[in-house]
Amino acid sequence: MSRVPLQQQQSCGSWELKERLGTGGFGNVTRWQNKDTEEQIAIKQCRQELSERNRERWCLEIQIMKRLDHVNVVAAREVPEGLQSSLRINDLPLLAMEYCQGGDLRKYLNLLENCCGMREGSILILLRDISSALTYLHKKRIIHRDLKPENIVLQQGEKRLIHKIIDLGYAKELDQNSLCTSFVGTLQYLAPELLERQKYTVTVDYWSFGTLVFECITGFRPFLPTWQPVPWHSKLKLKQDHDIVVYEDLTGEVRFSKHLPQPNNLNTLLLGRLESWLQLMLRWSPQERGKADPQTTSSDCFSQLETILELKLVHVLNMVSAKIFTYSVSANESVADLQQRIGSDTNIPPANQELLLEAGLALEPQGEAGQCAIDYTANKKRTDLPLVFLFDRSSCTYEPQFTPRTMPENIRFVREYTRTLMLRKVKNINE
Ligand code: ATP
Ligand code: MG
Repeated sequence: MSRVPLQQQQSCGSWELKERLGTGGFGNVTRWQNKDTEEQIAIKQCRQELSERNRERWCLEIQIMKRLDHVNVVAAREVPEGLQSSLRINDLPLLAMEYCQGGDLRKYLNLLENCCGMREGSILILLRDISSALTYLHKKRIIHRDLKPENIVLQQGEKRLIHKIIDLGYAKELDQNSLCTSFVGTLQYLAPELLERQKYTVTVDYWSFGTLVFECITGFRPFLPTWQPVPWHSKLKLKQDHDIVVYEDLTGEVRFSKHLPQPNNLNTLLLGRLESWLQLMLRWSPQERGKADPQTTSSDCFSQLETILELKLVHVLNMVSAKIFTYSVSANESVADLQQRIGSDTNIPPANQELLLEAGLALEPQGEAGQCAIDYTANKKRTDLPLVFLFDRSSCTYEPQFTPRTMPENIRFVREYTRTLMLRKVKNINE
């Protein structure tokens, strides 16, 4: 693919220009590879003359990037020797960064499989990475101000995908009284107080984070995504504190809702927890945004998120009804304890419950319930949810109204085997 403009220098010493990664407001980002070491880097170059103010902003981004060191913020690299002078189209410095081969989150969201929201595991990993990056930046008193899918890139780590924040071109260091007044950012993810040119603080990043997480869960942006800023603002002002989505229904009427719309890929337990979390992140009032208790002075949305991310979840598929039940299990909970809870949800008494793992192994009541909890980070190749299969020993037919998905072979066997037994019995009776 030759997306690289021909007039640009194609190599410099051992470094070769490979492709253009993106073009934004001021800059071009290109991928370079060292032909001796095979190392790859991304180079951001300013492609036009800038006003004095924007020159400062450009240089500030480079300065900030060089000071940061966090796995979820893209790392600055040394600009290869000679590249600065050979690429010079103006006197602005280049920014060299680690190259992230997974493309940006926008590209990932645009995949057909993500049109109704990303998979649960991918959403949880994104939440972990971006909350960790934002906590780090905010602790360093830096507000990103332009958080959106285009400014998050993906890199394949050893175990799982890693998300990294890029483009600190609009990032701002908090001044003495922690409030800033300049106007920046991309409208669709922009907190209302930025649109109003009001004073703002770190909670503008909460709004953008909430907006992008909503989009990752459902596949679309929460608040009237096609509306222009002025009508958007006056309509959205009417939203209640807990509303997390404002949309036009089929008759064109604008509706408000406190709930995450379907379809999405979240289990019922996570759906409820993330709904409450989004209700904090998408508060209109910047002072109350992120706070579970408006009386407190600190934002606790990150600690609340931490609790959600630490949940140990077990998904049980009831083979009789084809319904999935999700349980959050504690560290010392036994399978027998879990069976009690399953009993009250399914009306199958623990003595009749047969719980099988995918490979067909039975769970012993004295074992730990946590052994079947999901480790999302270890399942990077899976597109489905690991399940525990619940059979009712007192029943010998399993013919759910619908089959939620293709069954693992061993589980299918147990189901088929029961049916064969049943048929044999019927046959014997008839003979
Ligand atoms: P500005 O808004 O300051 O003008 P920009 O939007 O032009 O910035 P970036 O957001 O930094 O610039 O980068 C533009 C695009 O290039 C990104 O959306 C992403 O697709 C790609 N990109 C940037 N940095 C990297 C990187 N380190 N690795 C891989 N891709 C990158
Ligand atoms: Mg950008």
